[in-house]
Amino acid sequence: MGPVANPPDLPYPKTMPLHLITDERCVDYHMAGHPERPQRISRTLEKLRAQQDVQIQWAKPAEVTEAAILRAHAKEHLARVQAATSDFDGDTPAHAGIHGHALRSIGGGLRSLELARKGGVSFSLLRPPGHHATGSRAMGFCYLNQAAIVTLEALATGAKRVAVYDFDVHHGNGTEAILLGKPGAFFYSIHQHPCYPGTGTKDVGENCFNYPIAPRTPREEYRKVLTRALDALKAQKPEVIVVSAGFDAYARDPLAQETLEAEDFHWLGQSFRALGVPVVSVLEGGYSNDLPELIFAYLRGLEGK
Ligand SMILES: [Zn+2]
Repeated sequence: MGPVANPPDLPYPKTMPLHLITDERCVDYHMAGHPERPQRISRTLEKLRAQQDVQIQWAKPAEVTEAAILRAHAKEHLARVQAATSDFDGDTPAHAGIHGHALRSIGGGLRSLELARKGGVSFSLLRPPGHHATGSRAMGFCYLNQAAIVTLEALATGAKRVAVYDFDVHHGNGTEAILLGKPGAFFYSIHQHPCYPGTGTKDVGENCFNYPIAPRTPREEYRKVLTRALDALKAQKPEVIVVSAGFDAYARDPLAQETLEAEDFHWLGQSFRALGVPVVSVLEGGYSNDLPELIFAYLRGLEGK
């Protein structure tokens, strides 16, 4: 046999620039001792700027319309986030300016959608995360739900079938609550159980599929469940995939008890790239000091390295 060419089903050239969507204002809020801290982004940016391995094109969040948010959230909830005078819960403080930060996180997801539809590879590196925010409630470090908003935007602008793949170690309860029963939307969450927020023990409705995993499940087993969920997602033949990319199933993450390594996040990136449809990635959780390496591994996979 001669040299082997790219696999025929690889949708993109072997390597192509990766669009990284960020806005440095996202490090401008914090609460002492809170794990969802600015260094998650600032240290990742340092790492990405210092490396030469992956070619990065930097992009800014898109503008966000109220109409796009209101597909996912109640008007009263949006007003509460805009005013943000008292904490939403013990985990989810009323930071000054949090509405603007949450808007930029949504804008990052929307820009990722736009770039993905042009055939690009992209990742939205912003905070706050979003997947715990329900239609009417901020919780678990999340205020507005970018994954759900991007999914509904994709469906409102031409896609017939859009699937969310949420590999954050916590159940994406907010995304599930918003997308439950929405025609054309599919939700797959792979997460530790028991763990915060305690939901996601079984499938819900016709379009939300949960893969709870016991704490300290061996890595090989965890990978098998990730694969099973990915195969189920593929079978739905989505035209767009929205990835809630949380890196807290990592073996040394302080907020959960799972077992994944950087190599597994690299494999996830490669797997999404190989699907041959636009893939949107938004950052959710991930709280270890190794987060920059984990994100970098994922990006290398997405980029085809
Ligand atoms: Zn998480």
